[in-house]
Amino acid sequence: MTGDSGVCMNRQKDKPAVLVSACLLGFPCRYDGKSKLNEEVAAMSEKYELVPVCPECLGGLPTPRSPSELKDGRAITSDGEDRTEQFVNGANETLKIALKRGCLVAVMKERSPSCGSGIIHNGRFDGGLTEGWGVAAALLRSSGIWVIGESSISKLKKDH
Ligand code: SF4
Repeated sequence: MTGDSGVCMNRQKDKPAVLVSACLLGFPCRYDGKSKLNEEVAAMSEKYELVPVCPECLGGLPTPRSPSELKDGRAITSDGEDRTEQFVNGANETLKIALKRGCLVAVMKERSPSCGSGIIHNGRFDGGLTEGWGVAAALLRSSGIWVIGESSISKLKKDH
């Protein structure tokens, strides 16, 4: 048993670390207190060391919380409160974890105002989408980390 554990630990150490939005791994950290478990993303643990992060939680926001969307560069809740400071703090903490754990790739929840990559909600809380990046995803990307959404993990399987 001890030997098996040792082998597993060694193999774990050899796996590349990939940052992942915690809600995709089943953590109930979404604004509504639910998760968004994605089995395909969770199964990546066979090949990668998955590092779960929730930028909004890392920024000090509670769960559950009012949903936010990005508007004119600010993170605003559906009640009209400005949460930009918490979003920026959470993004900075997320980057610190990514760098500390040596993550070159991040698999982030699509359309989120923190984690979205390329397309996010439009700031009107009407379900509409627009081009843009979530606050944490944008910071990771500008720091050289390859950020992809959960529907694009086949790219990762192909290239890494
Ligand atoms: S901030 Fe990101 S990880 Fe946290 S609940 Fe929202 S989408 Fe998921």
